[in-house]
Amino acid sequence: MIGHSQQVHCPNCGHLAERHHIDPDQLVRTQCGACDYLMITCARTGKVIEAYAPGLFATSAC
Ligand SMILES: [Zn+2]
Repeated sequence: MIGHSQQVHCPNCGHLAERHHIDPDQLVRTQCGACDYLMITCARTGKVIEAYAPGLFATSAC
């Protein structure tokens, strides 16, 4: 069975992103096609497994 998905607002750029619930691993994956934002969290504990937001890291350098 493939996990279901829903549309959410990207926390990085505000565009619509897709949130996928990956049932076998109890993971929630949020991905934005507009800015390459990616976040994978554990649905049970809420812990962030992996996160990537290009805008966040770029702004501190300028
Ligand atoms: Zn985005």
